Amino acid sequence: MLSTLVVYGVARSSNRILWISTRIVCCRRSERGVVSEFVRELPKAELHLHIEGTLEPAMLVSLSGRNHVPLRYSSVAEIEAALQFTNLQSFLDVYYEAAGTLLTRQDFFDLTFAYLQRAAADGVVHAEIFFDPQTHTERGVPFDAVIGGISDALAAGHAEFGMSSGLIMCFLRHLPAGRAMDTLEAAMPFRDQLLGVGLDSSEVGHPPGAFAGVFAAARAEGLRLVSHAGEEGPPEYVWEALDVLGAERIDHGNRALEDAALVTRLVAEQVPLTVCPFSNVKLAVVDRLEDHPLRRMIDLGLNVSINSDDPSYFGGYIGDNYVGTQVALRFSDDEMAGIARNSLRASFVPDHEKQALVANLDEFLSHRP
Ligand SMILES: [Zn+2]
Repeated sequence: MLSTLVVYGVARSSNRILWISTRIVCCRRSERGVVSEFVRELPKAELHLHIEGTLEPAMLVSLSGRNHVPLRYSSVAEIEAALQFTNLQSFLDVYYEAAGTLLTRQDFFDLTFAYLQRAAADGVVHAEIFFDPQTHTERGVPFDAVIGGISDALAAGHAEFGMSSGLIMCFLRHLPAGRAMDTLEAAMPFRDQLLGVGLDSSEVGHPPGAFAGVFAAARAEGLRLVSHAGEEGPPEYVWEALDVLGAERIDHGNRALEDAALVTRLVAEQVPLTVCPFSNVKLAVVDRLEDHPLRRMIDLGLNVSINSDDPSYFGGYIGDNYVGTQVALRFSDDEMAGIARNSLRASFVPDHEKQALVANLDEFLSHRP
């Protein structure tokens, strides 16, 4: 066991401290070599995180009781036993049942603030968070309870942890595009609380192109555009997300590797891909973390970041994804710092804030032992 005293740098932006801390960083030795908690502490952005996917089993049991919503499971142990998935759909079946316990503004606040606490402990200085209003409004939960509770928590997270954030409203692609348009219209009274829109849920059989109209309307409102594509769906979905939706970032994008012309395009334009290694293993997109294509993606020159997707279901938050991926794919600390830098640069913060976030990372690195 090796312990090193590290004094982190201080960076200020808009009168706030991005990161200041004095702490002991411990390194542990694994079978594969030295693994540093350095990567967990790296100042980073999380760009692919579904807030409903942070619902921990203990909170799920609590919400079930508090809101009198029965579950198929009666204990935390039974929930954990149910988290064995064979594909995206088998996960979504559990995910939507769990999300059914979220009813009130306080529920959404509690859920979001619990995530922010974990993210702050994992070095996240900026988070762009997905939420799925249709999962809730279709059950009769008022839109303002959903967005109000989440936004209150983001404000509290900024005050408590100095973490900046943005909210990206995702449309459920397994529902008709007309319902997505209804959702965008319902969100307009809360326009100032939104950073962008995205597209998620069951991918195969639901190509992005069907949502061209609602994405065009969102763009006209000045919202930023992202889309899940190429997780289970074919490379054609990635092309569609780029060319038909105008997506500025691709969430996942693993299957782009099957199309050389698409890789050339993504590299040339440095389109950010928000990769989620633990998710890919848990949903059987790859067999083992050691088989994850992230190393190949980086070697090809793709612009990738590491994110946690639905961490309470996939075995770890962003820090665990960084540490686990470094071990499994034998990334150097410098390579991991490059991934963290990618995440900050791929965020949608204004340029001057982005420069401050990157400068904060560089300051952190300058104090590396
Ligand atoms: Zn996702």
